[in-house]
Amino acid sequence: MVNFKKARERMVEAQVMARGVQDERVLEAMRKVPRHLFVDEALRDQAYSDHPLPIAENQTISQPFIVGLMTESLQLKGGEKVLEIGTGSGYQAAVLAELAGRVFSIERFPDLGYRANATLRKLGYENVIIRVGDGSLGWPDDAPFDGIIVTAGTPQIPQPLIDQLVPGGRLIVPVGDRTAQDLILVERAPEGVRKTNLGGVRFVNLVGKWGWKE
Ligand code: SAH
Repeated sequence: MVNFKKARERMVEAQVMARGVQDERVLEAMRKVPRHLFVDEALRDQAYSDHPLPIAENQTISQPFIVGLMTESLQLKGGEKVLEIGTGSGYQAAVLAELAGRVFSIERFPDLGYRANATLRKLGYENVIIRVGDGSLGWPDDAPFDGIIVTAGTPQIPQPLIDQLVPGGRLIVPVGDRTAQDLILVERAPEGVRKTNLGGVRFVNLVGKWGWKE
């Protein structure tokens, strides 16, 4: 029987902090969220290991360091409205829920969306709303957002997501081909948009109007 709390502390120290994530609020959120409850029972013992893990529909839950890096890039202070594209297991949404005011998350596969919703409810996260649909179009009804995080790889930055950022808002998105991408941080300033490359990653595909066609 793994001591999950210990495993989580070790994960934060050896994987997330060791590679440079410094935001103490992000580290604390990752020490708190029970990542093992977002994966299949058979994979629980691997939940805190240094790699992505399979979830249903051939999708994956990201490596812990990547969750830390992407979350930190949004610079959340508390109270923000955040949009996530690609709910998957719901783990990233839970980490965001610890740090922001309200989290909106969109998933393409209904069964993943329902399952993530059930997990988040069971854990008591009441500030996360999940919707099923094409997240590359954003969530116009509740826009604009202070932060947007895309957890699937796309050939281009979906324009609706840039349009749905507040001035000063931040969008983090993996952009590239089907197998390898760069993490691009987009900051929307009054004078225009600034893009920074945070390095190479490998995500499953964003499938939708602004992503890949299946
Ligand atoms: N953030 C998730 C992992 C995401 S894996 C977690 O913490 O577990 C990427 C997810 O994006 C997959 O579940 C995939 O089905 C979803 N996805 C792909 N294209 C999408 C789209 N256009 N809109 C919404 N979700 C999409």
